[in-house]
Amino acid sequence: MGKGSNTSIDIYCRIKPARSPSHYFASDMVENKVDFNIPRDGEAGYVNNRREHYEYKFNGVIGTDAKQDEVFERVARPPIDSVLKGINGTIFAYGQTGSGKTFTMTGGAERYIDRGIIPRSISHIYSEIAKKSDSQYAVHISYMEIYNETGYDLLHQDADTKTLEDLPKVTLLEDEDGHYHLRSLSMHRANTEEDALNLLFLGDTNRTISETPMNLASSRSHCMFTVNVEARTGGDKVRRSKLHLVDLAGSERVSKTGVDGVTLREAKFINLSLHYLEQVIIALQEKSTGLGRAHVPYRNSMMTSVLRDSLGGNCKTAMVATINCEMDQLDESISTCRFAQRVAMVSNVVMVNEELDPNLVIKRLKGEIKDLKEELRLVKGEEADRGPLTQGEIERLRQQLVTFVDGDGTDADMNWSSMMHLRMAFTLFKDMVKSGGGPGPPVAGKMKALADNEEDGASASEASSPSASVEMKGGGKGKEGGSASDDQSNDLVKKLRLQVQQRDNEINILVTMLKKAQGGVGPVLRDVNPQGANAAAVEALQRARPAAFTENGEAPGPTASAGSPAASTSKEMITKEVMSSVDLLADRNKASFEHFRKSYRKNEAIEENKALLKQKYGEAKALGEQVNAARQRINQMKAQIEQQRVERSMKLVAEGLDPAEAPPDPEEEQVKAVIEREKVGYKETFNQLRDLKKEIEHLQRLLEQSRQKLQSDFEAWLGVMMKQKVAERTSSEMGSVRASQESLTGLAAAGRVSGDSAV
Ligand code: ADP
Ligand code: MG
Repeated sequence: MGKGSNTSIDIYCRIKPARSPSHYFASDMVENKVDFNIPRDGEAGYVNNRREHYEYKFNGVIGTDAKQDEVFERVARPPIDSVLKGINGTIFAYGQTGSGKTFTMTGGAERYIDRGIIPRSISHIYSEIAKKSDSQYAVHISYMEIYNETGYDLLHQDADTKTLEDLPKVTLLEDEDGHYHLRSLSMHRANTEEDALNLLFLGDTNRTISETPMNLASSRSHCMFTVNVEARTGGDKVRRSKLHLVDLAGSERVSKTGVDGVTLREAKFINLSLHYLEQVIIALQEKSTGLGRAHVPYRNSMMTSVLRDSLGGNCKTAMVATINCEMDQLDESISTCRFAQRVAMVSNVVMVNEELDPNLVIKRLKGEIKDLKEELRLVKGEEADRGPLTQGEIERLRQQLVTFVDGDGTDADMNWSSMMHLRMAFTLFKDMVKSGGGPGPPVAGKMKALADNEEDGASASEASSPSASVEMKGGGKGKEGGSASDDQSNDLVKKLRLQVQQRDNEINILVTMLKKAQGGVGPVLRDVNPQGANAAAVEALQRARPAAFTENGEAPGPTASAGSPAASTSKEMITKEVMSSVDLLADRNKASFEHFRKSYRKNEAIEENKALLKQKYGEAKALGEQVNAARQRINQMKAQIEQQRVERSMKLVAEGLDPAEAPPDPEEEQVKAVIEREKVGYKETFNQLRDLKKEIEHLQRLLEQSRQKLQSDFEAWLGVMMKQKVAERTSSEMGSVRASQESLTGLAAAGRVSGDSAV
């Protein structure tokens, strides 16, 4: 891990649109500052402070008309880009209830363009990951709500969740090194953006459903959405970083209407954990200025413990202070801005969280040890605990040598397990050279070739292929068998093999053409369709052809072998088709590919799959619309509940009552019941859509596979055609070749015409 660099927390002020903004408030988007200019005897009469002018500077002031994408770009992008580089990131929203924290972090419930920082961060992370092909990424997501010092897992999948208490409780553990761990907080692997967005949606739904007027969760709890990114860039290093996206509890304080002499600074937070958050910030501020205590009381609350790294630790952190500029909200807005100023003084130290993956290191070291041990044994020479090499070992060594000498490569795949083996190998090799070769004929040939230095690498590899070695024997029967005639027969073999390959390809195409041309008239023809019942027979026929040729010097054509009169009557037609296809292919143009594609026997399957895919797309679209509609209905109801709660509690507070003691609202209970029902339907449709998606992806994979196969088959076919033309041109004088060609298959005409057209 490298040395970290110091960085401060970036602070942004976002001003919520107001119906009647106070004229005591002013914002400056150029200088990035906000001004509160309140007369000593303020109209509202509740500001009792000697100062009357407050000015706060920010890294950015975001005006009332700013759109969510702008907020994302300015606030969220730098921490997220850090996270993608392996540095932790945190973005948190702070402000009084109703000032726009949730709107900023999660977004508005309805319009797509109102998506907040969390969904936008998700999209951004996945699209950036997709661009980085050199690394392997794994993303895990968790979502937690902290209410009254207890954590709740919002990603609990149970559809029966009705209250916060139904969610699994999360506890905080501190290990020996002082690191915190959250127990029972589920982490979900999210392979795609859609997975992650669904998790966010699940958590948000649980968040709204579990809220009751008694706990007023939205204003009194903190929510933390965490994205864990793990990147492997090759080697044995792994980079891990976390992105915390935090929607804090409302920062409003008691004694809002201010008793005489009570300064804003002394006003108490409703939420105790925000009080501890402030304590942490003050301690960090003092620490960074070199004054005061070094101890930072992170341990006092769950939220500060969890945010330990984000505040004063290894993290790139940004804060959004949300403020409301209506007259009666100004004092809270001033508190929020003041808190932000303290936060700006906190100094973090960021560094890339790169560590060695122990498993990969162990694997690498084990390999190294094995190599070193072997090397050592080799250097040490003969092993002390054994006698000389046995006959069996010597024989095995000889076989390995033969294989090596006979093979194409220059690398010997031999087991030099000791100096003894090495010495013996040299002895054997010497014997082989002296005796003009080894035990087997291929080695003999090769040895001679080495000595005469006559054969090149390409023909040597030809000679080692099984069909060629059979042919060499066959050729040798009729001739004296010198090296010159070997060369000739090699040439011949090359050409003939090329032809056999070409015929195979042609047959595949012809069989399909025949089937099409005859329109299913000839039953025998239908039988030779490779996709039909007799596919195995056709395949066997094709496989048998090269062997038949090498044994008899000529091979029967496929039509003769099929023994079908229908096939021979259509021979002329096929031949014409093939001739024209060869001509088309000669200039490698698009038309030749089209021609090939149309006669391609797998083409029908491709077309069928395409049609099916189209149909599935249609179904998916319809289902998707249903899912979106259900999602939107749920979101609207959630927003409705939220709105009513804020209004109700504001009313209660205004009346001097504690909202926590108010009875449940029957209207809200009704809406919740509807949400419950919608949730069930949503889940069902969503599952259907997910299954369909899997099916579609499968079809897409199938199609892609077929496409690639078509391409490579075409290229192979074309390659053979081209090669053959070249071969024919360069050796047109070899009458024997022409004769063999003609007798090779029953399609001699096709070969001759294609040869002529090339000249
Ligand atoms: P908080 O989470 O801070 O309690 P919310 O984000 O729920 O506040 O905002 C309260 C209401 O104000 C919501 O209806 C929200 O849609 C609206 N709102 C907040 N900020 C904005 C904004 N910048 N533009 C438009 N509407 C906003
Ligand atoms: Mg909120």
